[in-house]
Amino acid sequence: KGDSTLSITVVGASGDLAKKKIFPALFALYYEDCLPENFVVFGYARTKMKDEELRNMISRTLTCRIDKRENCGDKMEQFLKRCFYHSGQYNSEEHFAELNCKLKEKEGGKLSNRLFYLSIPPNIFVDVVRCASTKASSTTGWTRVIVEKPFGRDSESSSELTRCLKQYLNEDQIFRIDHYLGKELVENLSVLRFSNLVFEPLWSRNYIRNVQFIFSEDFGTEGRGGYFDHYGIIRDIMQNHLLQILALFAMETPVSMDAEDIRNEKVKVLRSMKPLQLEDVIVGQYKGHKKGDKLYPGYTDDPTVPNDSVTPTFAAAALFINNARWDGVPFLMKAGKALHTKGAEIRVQFRHVPGNLYKRNFGTDLDKATNELVLRVQPDEAIYLKINNKVPGLGMRLDRSDLNLLYKARYTREIPDAYERLLLDAVEGERRLFIRSDELDAAWALFTPLLKELEERKIAPELYPYGSRGPVGAYYLAAKHNVRWGDLTGEE
Ligand code: NAP
Repeated sequence: KGDSTLSITVVGASGDLAKKKIFPALFALYYEDCLPENFVVFGYARTKMKDEELRNMISRTLTCRIDKRENCGDKMEQFLKRCFYHSGQYNSEEHFAELNCKLKEKEGGKLSNRLFYLSIPPNIFVDVVRCASTKASSTTGWTRVIVEKPFGRDSESSSELTRCLKQYLNEDQIFRIDHYLGKELVENLSVLRFSNLVFEPLWSRNYIRNVQFIFSEDFGTEGRGGYFDHYGIIRDIMQNHLLQILALFAMETPVSMDAEDIRNEKVKVLRSMKPLQLEDVIVGQYKGHKKGDKLYPGYTDDPTVPNDSVTPTFAAAALFINNARWDGVPFLMKAGKALHTKGAEIRVQFRHVPGNLYKRNFGTDLDKATNELVLRVQPDEAIYLKINNKVPGLGMRLDRSDLNLLYKARYTREIPDAYERLLLDAVEGERRLFIRSDELDAAWALFTPLLKELEERKIAPELYPYGSRGPVGAYYLAAKHNVRWGDLTGEE
């Protein structure tokens, strides 16, 4: 509206995430006309920079969608004119008071809404929230803060972070971001379930044999393992991204699509799960590997990682939900770095067809005859259902075919980045895709005992070669639960 303003302050503006994701997402929202008429963007960090230098820095990372190349240059220029910079310390109320003066000047006395994006290391979250809330909050409109993971390292540190943030903010002002929840296919999970008659009736232990959540990266820490070594793959991927998807996948039908109704259902799922034990998990770490002439370094070859590190770069886990819908169904997670392929998928394996008339067409391996629904979250978004089909001809030969919804073949629009959706939601006060504090507590409660045991007993990870399919232990873990992992490359 013309009578109010929006100020977005990116704290940690000189950093990697700000450059790579936040500024480009803000520009995309501007380009799509999703930001209010009066808005400004401020970068805040310790690095000394002039407005013009910030603009130069940002301009290098802005892009326009393929279908919207028209006027792209003009739009960029107009956007950059709305970007400003203030250099300051993260624990200085005085510097945030200066920022406040600059914001006020730009807001020109209009009703002001202020969004702070904390794109900084976690040890300074609380300082920034204290300074921003006491010195740079809006006095006329709302003030919201987006917080990036990690939200602590375990139950205790996460509760402590929440307690400290809540000294200065109420829960409604805190937007804990998990960018996986902003991904198109993850958003679509609820649409698929709740707006198609054919899926929801099958969504239970009666028809589903197991569910898999798989995340795979085909590169290692590549000299940036300092942060990772302190957290490991379980905290970095499983406890947040994969568990969030699992909760959305398994929740009961919410009363409505309102944020509180959805988050209530997700919390119920998390609280129905048994905390992970050591025997439910296997951990791995990649080791150096020579392929042809090329030498791929091991995790501990990374100069930012201690030589004796036992931090897992791979983990697989079996989780169970103790409720009427899912009793006994294994929910398997697998996440790893430096594997043979990259991608993220949800795979749903259905039960055998009872009394299958075509049993003999599948020989002894009846598992091969079961249906499987795959949601490929990234890359190359797709939903496909594996079905058995008669090969055309006079004989009766069956094969496995896919009913395939490949997004790039079906939709011409480019898929927005997750950060665009989440930033827009935060501006609009839509909390559905952000993590509530009780959800966070429930998520940590599942993983904290395991993480402590792994660390206290210094459990050695199983080594796997860089670029491989990961440790063999992951296959044994799956087999223990009668599961065969789906393969991201489709080479089953
Ligand atoms: P970053 O580049 O390491 O840090 C962002 C900025 O914070 C830096 O430019 C620096 O700015 C300041 N900073 C760095 N280390 C500091 C320290 N020890 N004390 C005080 N200030 C420090 O981080 P990032 O990769 O942009 O990520 C920002 C946040 O997002 C982190 O919490 C990270 O865990 C999370 N995250 C990042 C990604 C990603 O893809 N990079 C993905 C998910 C989540 P000045 O020196 O100019 O003050």
